[in-house]
Amino acid sequence: MRIGLIDVDAWSRGSATFPNISLMKVSAWHKRRCDQVEWYNPDTDTPYDRVYLNKVFSDEYSRDYDQPIRAKEVFRRGSGYALSVINGVEVYDRLIDLPFPAELDHIYPDYHLYQRKVFVPDVDVEGTELETGYYEMVDMFPDTAYGFMTKGCPNNCDFCHVCQMQGRKVWNFADLSEFWNGQKNIVLLDPNITASKDFVRHMSALADTGAYVDFSQGLDARLLTEEKIHALNRVKYKRIHFAWDKPREDLADNFRRIATHLKRGGRDAVSCYVLTNHSSTHEDDLRRIYTLREVGFHPYVMIYRKPTAPQITRRLQRWCNTPALFYKFPTFGEYCRATYKGGEGLEEP
Ligand code: SF4
Repeated sequence: MRIGLIDVDAWSRGSATFPNISLMKVSAWHKRRCDQVEWYNPDTDTPYDRVYLNKVFSDEYSRDYDQPIRAKEVFRRGSGYALSVINGVEVYDRLIDLPFPAELDHIYPDYHLYQRKVFVPDVDVEGTELETGYYEMVDMFPDTAYGFMTKGCPNNCDFCHVCQMQGRKVWNFADLSEFWNGQKNIVLLDPNITASKDFVRHMSALADTGAYVDFSQGLDARLLTEEKIHALNRVKYKRIHFAWDKPREDLADNFRRIATHLKRGGRDAVSCYVLTNHSSTHEDDLRRIYTLREVGFHPYVMIYRKPTAPQITRRLQRWCNTPALFYKFPTFGEYCRATYKGGEGLEEP
């Protein structure tokens, strides 16, 4: 069979900044059956037997592939097709985003799916690069494994669809060997591994790999007990991040406890997402940002449904998420006064 793949998020943005794990698994599954797998080529003379489109983000962030598709069968999959905005809130429809069969869901991903062409120059006897040379294909995300050890989350935040997709109980999804085979980096996609009853065991397995681990969906500061922090201390990481999404929750003491026991802390190693434009006022946003600064973690402003965000929140994001600005101006008010005409009106509460 001839199989075509379309990473709709990458197509919509013009480039792939993060690999689509589902497509890497689809590719591996078909290649195991000796099918011909390639990125969909709209200029092909021969129609494909099957084309898979996959989309993670809603239409607000990734528009759907709207070109004609030459194929006998077309499958559109991924959470992006199941998300719609109703009364200003993203709603997830489980019936549209059907799960993969287990055989496909647990296959070792095809990490060579994402490649780019690079020019390799010839060199003369002294090692000087010449203008002649050749092109070769290299992996776009080299030496990195991607996958889930656990799925599910108990928190059921109203702006997030993880609980509808994966359930409100954290459950073990896969052993590391299912998606890791000696790579130097591991990107974990688990939505809330901190809530796993096997957290300590999972950290031990990750520590034993010796790889750098990126907890891409963050850790849950409320659940990170001293025992869990000590287990985390054995894992190699460059940065970790938390989320402080609910403005009425006071997480200051949780962050202080973490800062006390974490071996690799500080603003370069620990950041915390601060959700804005959802259920918080500007004052709520500032309070969380200043608390994190005081604890020594770097706040990182996330904007819910960014196209609808007020100007002050966009400016807050620019100040906070640009370290050179954030550490130059100790307060948002000072940043505004120095940067925007009329910024003197933006005083802190
Ligand atoms: S804690 Fe994170 S993963 Fe869990 S429901 Fe909230 S936003 Fe989603």
